[in-house]
Amino acid sequence: MYDGNYLAEKLRSASLGRDQATFLRNHQTGDVVSFGAFFQNAERMAAVLVANGVNPGDRIAVQAPKTQAMLELYVGAVLAGAVFLPLNTAYTGAEISYFLGDAEPALLVCDPKNLAALAPIAATCNVPVILTLAAGETGTLVSSRDEEAPGFKAVARGEDDLAAILYTSGTTGRSKGAMLTHRALASNSETLKDYWHFTSDDVLIHALPIFHTHGLFVATNISLMAGSACIFMAGFDAEVIRDYMPEATALMGVPTFYVRLLETPGLAEAAKNMRLFVSGSAPLLAETHDKWREVTGHAILERYGMTETNMNTSNPYDGARRAGTVGFALPGVEVILTDPDTGVEVAPGAVGILEVRGPNVFAGYWRMPEKTAEELRDNGFFITGDMAEIDAEGYISIVGRAKDLIITGGYNVYPKEIELLIDEVEGVSESAVIGVPHKDFGEAVVAVVVPQKGVALSEEAILKTIAPDVARFKQPKRIILVGELTRNTMGKVQKKELREQYKDLFG
Ligand code: AMP
Repeated sequence: MYDGNYLAEKLRSASLGRDQATFLRNHQTGDVVSFGAFFQNAERMAAVLVANGVNPGDRIAVQAPKTQAMLELYVGAVLAGAVFLPLNTAYTGAEISYFLGDAEPALLVCDPKNLAALAPIAATCNVPVILTLAAGETGTLVSSRDEEAPGFKAVARGEDDLAAILYTSGTTGRSKGAMLTHRALASNSETLKDYWHFTSDDVLIHALPIFHTHGLFVATNISLMAGSACIFMAGFDAEVIRDYMPEATALMGVPTFYVRLLETPGLAEAAKNMRLFVSGSAPLLAETHDKWREVTGHAILERYGMTETNMNTSNPYDGARRAGTVGFALPGVEVILTDPDTGVEVAPGAVGILEVRGPNVFAGYWRMPEKTAEELRDNGFFITGDMAEIDAEGYISIVGRAKDLIITGGYNVYPKEIELLIDEVEGVSESAVIGVPHKDFGEAVVAVVVPQKGVALSEEAILKTIAPDVARFKQPKRIILVGELTRNTMGKVQKKELREQYKDLFG
């Protein structure tokens, strides 16, 4: 089945002969979808792509609500030899315009609510076809799917062919498209499935978005490769997740999930028969880890990864899961720590930049050879930009970020992008955007803004001005107006001091 298509063969292998077994229980629609029905729909999706002129290697951009049809489209794109390109649903028209111009997709799928706004943008970017997909599993993508027959013959694709491009935030405000091969996706999910002991007996609560590596590749690919079922939820709702726990075995979440779940009554009883809780995408506070263990008796398994590399490290399944650490390098993955200035490996126990090599690592940034060369070494090591240390027993801890990344609710925000927008607001002299601790989001985006002399600015006015141009999750939760920004002798704004000064802003 799907012979010659490297990733598709692997995604299908565990469910062959188990066509009647449940793959998805769709929380929104109440539908129970078997593996057989899911793959038939994915084949129909592949046929829709071909009917719309999509050729192997073409990009399929998707900014749509989390639906079963979007998952079918992902697998359909793999079957058609196309490159799946999911976009955060929070991105605004201005942001989408950059992605469409950069990726030049052959097709865009969007929420019908955004069609009027996105159609002219797509036209300017020469995107020939737009289909729609709405929450509730409706739209022209779904009606086109239903007109096609299953039985699509998978397009041959090798290990090195691209399966997906996922955009990361760029330090200079420009996002970079991480090119992910069939091998990178297949190898990582296979490794994680074995490492975390996923089997066809598992039922995963799938509440993560599917425009990000965590929900799309970790959660979905592992389930397909293990032949596990998923309880498929469009978004995060702590109480709904708690209520599903007695029927499930595993949950994958960002730290915010666990913080919120701890606030729901009846958690201990609900979690009794769960097998595994996985956390990642941002640091899990040791406090949350400890509290979770106290309330539920389970040790959350924390792992570390990124868009460019899939997952790199994980706490052990059987051994001690240490709070505040991300465990060990996964099988087949090499991790080294290097000096940021010399690139030489640091002494044991010292902090260095985490570099990673393995089949999981991406193939470079889409149409950005210079950026690729800066971060991906000739010897195959990718310079993650995360600072880490490794203790005597080999546990890896992420201690900070070399880049000034803010991670809020599991999403990355690069301060520079927001600073550039704020600085354009009339009456603003300069700004510094930082992340400060926040109980729910891990970090909250805060902007410290200096108005021009004699200009009266308000927090609300600045927020209102930038809101149309930037996704909501990137918008500052607070804007603080100050007379000047503290700088060092080299003229650099002292963000460390600002973080210290405002660390208690949210309690
Ligand atoms: P993304 O590309 O959106 O997946 O974000 C990747 C970044 O998230 C990494 O470079 C890390 O800085 C951070 N990250 C992911 N998992 C963890 C973790 N378990 N602990 C600390 N930081 C993490």
